[in-house]
Amino acid sequence: MKINTLFNQNACTLSFEVFPPKASGAFAAVQAATQEMAKLAPHYMSVTYGAGGGTSENTVAIASYVQHELKTTALAHLTCVSSTREQVREQLAGLKKAGIENILALRGDNPEGVSGHYKYASELIQDIAAFGDFCVGAACYPEGHTQSASQEQDLLYLKKKVDCGVSFLCTQMFFDNNVLYRFLYKAMKIGIDLPVTAGIMPITNAGQIKRMVELSGATLPPVLLSIVDRFASSPAALYQAGIAYAISQILDLLANDIRGIHLYTMNKPQVARDILGSLSEVFSCTV
Ligand code: FAD
Repeated sequence: MKINTLFNQNACTLSFEVFPPKASGAFAAVQAATQEMAKLAPHYMSVTYGAGGGTSENTVAIASYVQHELKTTALAHLTCVSSTREQVREQLAGLKKAGIENILALRGDNPEGVSGHYKYASELIQDIAAFGDFCVGAACYPEGHTQSASQEQDLLYLKKKVDCGVSFLCTQMFFDNNVLYRFLYKAMKIGIDLPVTAGIMPITNAGQIKRMVELSGATLPPVLLSIVDRFASSPAALYQAGIAYAISQILDLLANDIRGIHLYTMNKPQVARDILGSLSEVFSCTV
């Protein structure tokens, strides 16, 4: 099913993000993780794409498994920065052949492998639209993209990207809901009125935090910093505290009628289970 239909049919969608295996040997483990997650009945599952192209075949294979074997709508990520126009057409033909109807169109980050054919995700979105018949989503950044001069400029480029043919947006991770609410207000003021699904990254171990914050540019609010400081020495306590924090973030988002929750699962079904276990009635109130 196309994801814009899912947004039309549900007041709030629930989606899980997984990443495909880098090596073929790990394929069964990722399949098993997606199988467990599908039991939680998300509206769709998204599968990331290696900007260097290393996991591109596995993206299609896992997305296809999710869609056809697990009967869950799949969203395949696709990056363009290291691809030629011809390679993108081949990717699109491959996705179509695999029955994938939804693409998250991204620029990617690959300073060594820039092809020169694509500079921004908006160019990929135009090519997907010209290819035809995909539902296209794009990324957005509540705190501004790390390479943007300002959030205002990033928002204007986001509006240009949306106008190229985007049906929904998925946010970068954020840890302070007020950051998202301010972003949504500013986006609405410049005419971005698409469904925006909120990217939630549960903090489940101390090692993850520094890397995540560096990659995403997301700010850790003082309350989360205190939690990490206080419980970092006990992995079990930090896991529980991280899940509790994600639950409180999601609860507030649902109470404020967000259009979608997108869980960055890091391929851990237990994380998704622990979060949804505490929110099942709340979620069933919002669909
Ligand atoms: P763009 O929308 O092209 O924006 C990139 C930068 O260029 C921004 O600073 C923007 O303000 C600026 N810009 C845009 N248009 C113009 C213009 N016309 N003129 C001047 N400046 C412009 N990466 C992966 O490799 N694989 C994945 O699977 C993946 N999944 C992701 C999923 C989500 C939800 C998110 C938020 C990110 C994901 N990323 C992934 C990371 C993403 O590739 C990077 O954040 C990348 O740096 C930007 O991608 P984009 O599509 O947002 O780029």
